[in-house]
Amino acid sequence: MKFSGFELLKNAFTGQTGWTPHWRKAEPKSSYDVVIIGGGGHGLATAHYLAKEFGITNVAVIEKGWIGSGNVGRNTTIIRSNYLLPGNIPFYELGMKLWEGLEQELNYNAMVSQRGVLNLYHSDAQRDAFARRGNAMRLHGVDAELLDRDAVRTMAPFLDFNNARFPIQGGLLQRRGGTARHDAVVWGYARAADKRGVDVVENCEVIGLRQDNGKIIGVETTKGFIDAKRVGMSVAGNSSRLASLAGLRLPIESYVLQAFVSESLKPVIDCVVTFGAGHFYISQSDKGSLVFGGDLDPYPSYAQRGSLAVFSDVAENAIAMMPMLGRLRILRSWGGIMDMSMDGSPIIDKTPIEGLFFNGGWCYGGFKATPAAGFCFAHLIAKGAHHPVAAAYRLDRFATGRVIDEKGAGPTPNLH
Ligand SMILES: Cc1cc2nc3c(=O)[nH]c(=O)nc-3n(C[C@H](O)[C@H](O)[C@H](O)COP(=O)(O)OP(=O)(O)OC[C@H]3O[C@@H](n4cnc5c(N)ncnc54)[C@H](O)[C@@H]3O)c2cc1C
Repeated sequence: MKFSGFELLKNAFTGQTGWTPHWRKAEPKSSYDVVIIGGGGHGLATAHYLAKEFGITNVAVIEKGWIGSGNVGRNTTIIRSNYLLPGNIPFYELGMKLWEGLEQELNYNAMVSQRGVLNLYHSDAQRDAFARRGNAMRLHGVDAELLDRDAVRTMAPFLDFNNARFPIQGGLLQRRGGTARHDAVVWGYARAADKRGVDVVENCEVIGLRQDNGKIIGVETTKGFIDAKRVGMSVAGNSSRLASLAGLRLPIESYVLQAFVSESLKPVIDCVVTFGAGHFYISQSDKGSLVFGGDLDPYPSYAQRGSLAVFSDVAENAIAMMPMLGRLRILRSWGGIMDMSMDGSPIIDKTPIEGLFFNGGWCYGGFKATPAAGFCFAHLIAKGAHHPVAAAYRLDRFATGRVIDEKGAGPTPNLH
């Protein structure tokens, strides 16, 4: 079914009975051209672009839980392309461009809101670093504006401009950045992929990767063996566990990252703001809740819940940046398992096993990458060659020394 104003009107007069499920409840067939493991944003976007851009429709996405149960439904919804390094900027900018047309492409309301992403700076040195980042962005055709204190005050008047320890001097603004409704994104991709013939198989865990002579031949699942010519791994925080089934050891560690949602308030923040003197980011959802987060929990874990110590650290940052948040009541918090690579940048590459491909290591930033990661991973699986904007995301870069270190984003920021 295609969503349109006419369909909305028709269903308003027919008791909302005309809507059909967004995707079929598919059972796995015995064989596919491509099996994608992981029905998160990346896995489903990959399946969608395999079908749409490369004409490969005999595809299954195998998800151990339900669609939206992983990080794609747990993140703080920020999208942006305000990177510094040449290995990253073109990739994330491709992502921004795909976000800008995504709702039309998927015929789905993903609530993409280009409300702006504002990174605060608090010292001359930080201003210089942000000026450099802004210049690098503009050289790549990405929008960036360096704002002074008064311009920031106009945008976000409730910040603490007179904080003696962390005075706000200004900010780097990307107006085209913003937020998107996280689970709507994955539902939209699932629906679009299903429409093109992809089987979206839920409640089916991959428990083995079968190989023959260094070549992948299929996946063992809780619903039986599935024969596959090519297999893509796209399981975010579970990457190391899944890869170990094929005897691979990845340069990735898994940590919990928490998110917090408050009671609803009248509009107070109409862009995304990040604190420059600590790790803290905040935006306001359309329902009025403030949505925010900070650092990883400090030890590796596969538990999808976080610690109180990090919660209190996030609260400290919040109040230092915006003291009125001290009176806020938190409604919910949760954790997601993050796949932290050693340089803070992702991996989209072939593995040493023929026909087995890997997408992961997204650290704090995989939601914004969803469309570009899906597009570039589909390109790699279909053509066997990297898309030019993802050419730097090699698995062997940690051995060759060609790391892409955006500073402070890897698993142990203090060691970078
Ligand atoms: C609290 C939090 C806040 C974040 N905030 C942001 C943000 O603001 N902006 C941003 O860009 N990024 C953010 N991220 C990161 C982002 O959410 C992730 O990098 C991204 O969602 C990962 O890709 P995915 O959507 O494919 O992952 P997931 O949704 O986790 O998908 C992977 C799927 O694989 C499945 N799976 C795992 N193992 C198996 C198996 N053996 N068999 C079958 N299926 C399997 C899982 O069940 C899961 O559904 C945040 C993450 C968290 C946790």
